[in-house]
Amino acid sequence: MSDDWAERVPEDAAALLQRYARALFKYERLMEISRRLSSTLKLDSLLEHIVLAASELTGTEAASILLVDKLTGVLRFEAAVDNTGFKLSSIEVPVEGSIAGWVVTHGEPLLIADVTADARFYSGADDESGFRTRNILAVPMSTRDKVIGCLEAVNKHGEAPFSDEDLSTLNTLSAQAAIAIENARLFEQSDLIAEMVHELRTPLAAIKATTHILGRPEISADKREQMLVTVAGETDRLTRMTTEFLDLARLESGRTRLQETPVQLGDVLRQAVETVRPQAGDKNVSIQLELAPTGLPPVMGDDEKLKQVALNLLTNAIKYNRADGVVTVRAATLEDAVEVSVIDTGFGISPENLPHIFEKFYRVADTEGYTQGTGLGLAITKRIVEGHGGEIAVSSIAGVGTTFTFRLPVRKSGRRRAASSAK
Ligand code: ADP
Repeated sequence: MSDDWAERVPEDAAALLQRYARALFKYERLMEISRRLSSTLKLDSLLEHIVLAASELTGTEAASILLVDKLTGVLRFEAAVDNTGFKLSSIEVPVEGSIAGWVVTHGEPLLIADVTADARFYSGADDESGFRTRNILAVPMSTRDKVIGCLEAVNKHGEAPFSDEDLSTLNTLSAQAAIAIENARLFEQSDLIAEMVHELRTPLAAIKATTHILGRPEISADKREQMLVTVAGETDRLTRMTTEFLDLARLESGRTRLQETPVQLGDVLRQAVETVRPQAGDKNVSIQLELAPTGLPPVMGDDEKLKQVALNLLTNAIKYNRADGVVTVRAATLEDAVEVSVIDTGFGISPENLPHIFEKFYRVADTEGYTQGTGLGLAITKRIVEGHGGEIAVSSIAGVGTTFTFRLPVRKSGRRRAASSAK
């Protein structure tokens, strides 16, 4: 293309060429994302690419993907690019009283030319990141049956407002992101089912083998009795496994939602201790409950699920304790959290097993011999604690005992629900 050719091109044709070049660039970027979509299983990096493309192709300062947390229903930043380099991923956005929340609830796009004049704008994320939002174009992100989040482009460069083309670009990118997320989730689920089927084989094989032998006429009455105990034990294990597996699958798929209310953790711990007392008595294990004398501040949470956490840890502390051992439950208030420790005087967990202890179906090999279990309790416990925005840790000394400690945040002003007061 020579210079004088360009001079001869009429003004509107030049503009047209420029538009084509832009469109070509856009389709190239979208194609690239499609290619990545089919070739990568790394969800994080794919979502990063999608927000980068969203910001680039709509000519904006920033873009982000917010997803509905499957357990709590709040929205959380999953991927974002902006000029501050601030990591937004931990920031929660309320569903009621935010633009993202409106888009997710209504399943429709929303254009806000001036966020300061719109009551739906939630300023919490700006407050935490230092970014200043002026205008937003947000589109829903939907899978076949539901809206799972939203894609936002923020602060259009220059004077021009967001265009129809920006909207269609965001819709395309949002569909790509939704497919990627759905694929990743289906992959996780099929993995879980495969693992479960594998785990069911052991008790089923034991039952099959035992019932087969039971059919033999030469078996003594004593032996028969013993075998019936084995069958009953393995059947119990199957029942527990299916129940716990369904619990975990419901938590992971989002079919279980946390029903959050202010919870007095002291009461939850007291009830859990009373529930396991008979079990502890059978083993002559004593339980001490040490609550902070000034009381604990309430935490926002699901009291049934938090009780399940306490019960799982207490049951383990008794099950894996020595006879005449002690279990201590200690709760204390930290600056912005409540911390609960369940301390036992059991056999402990060796350093090579410790990092795997929260994994699904993981059981320490030598515990198999003296106590039954499914290896799902701690995976469920961790999921519930993290669903509350908390964390759980374990420390152990082989032969001395184990301590599980979990922390739950105490929200000063109930941040998740502060939306109505935010601009
Ligand atoms: P389960 O108790 O059903 O096997 P969990 O997920 O609750 O499953 O625990 C996983 C494994 O961690 C147990 O099998 C046991 O080996 C180990 N474990 C858990 N709690 C303790 C504890 N307090 N002391 C020693 N080992 C423990």
